[in-house]
Formats: sequence, C-alpha cells, structure tokens
Amino acid sequence: METFGCFVCRTPEARVSRGRSGAFTVECPICGWYEIDLRLASVLGALEDRSLVPYLSAHLSQNAAADSPAILTMSNWEDPSARTHRNSRTTKG
Ligand SMILES: [Zn+2]
Repeated sequence: METFGCFVCRTPEARVSRGRSGAFTVECPICGWYEIDLRLASVLGALEDRSLVPYLSAHLSQNAAADSPAILTMSNWEDPSARTHRNSRTTKG
C-alpha cells in the first residue's frame, strides 16, 4: 500500500485519495485540504529547493479555511499568491 503523506509539507498524517479527475485529494492537518495534479505531485515529491513550501502550505490552509480549496497544477503552484485575491479586509474569529 502506498502512503504519500502531504505532497507539500510531507507530514505523514495527511490523508491522500484519488479524485475523480485523476488528481489527488489531500487532507492535511497542516495545509488543510487541496487537490493536486498527478504530475505536480511527483515533482513536489522530488523537489530539492523547498523554500517555497511554507508559503504554499500557508496559502493552502487559507484557502481551505475559506472553504475554497486550492487546485494545484504545474502552472500555478510556484506563484500561489497570484491566485489569492488581495483583500485588505481582515476577518478575525
Ligand atoms: Zn501538508
């Protein structure tokens, strides 16, 4: 049985399932839940420069908290901030 853990933060606590579209759906205690492209999943698995990972993880958990989980693909993962709408509004609680 394959266990991947989270593709982004690599915690083994994450639950990974195969989505209908062929992508993976990940439920991570750190990143929240998101979908990830198969190709990107393998890229992230082999990634050496992990400097972007904390940003990506934070971005994912924000999206998950806002109930609009991110769908990561090869074309958007390197610039997650581009997908975030700039809202100066701060919501607390
Ligand atoms: Zn994670």
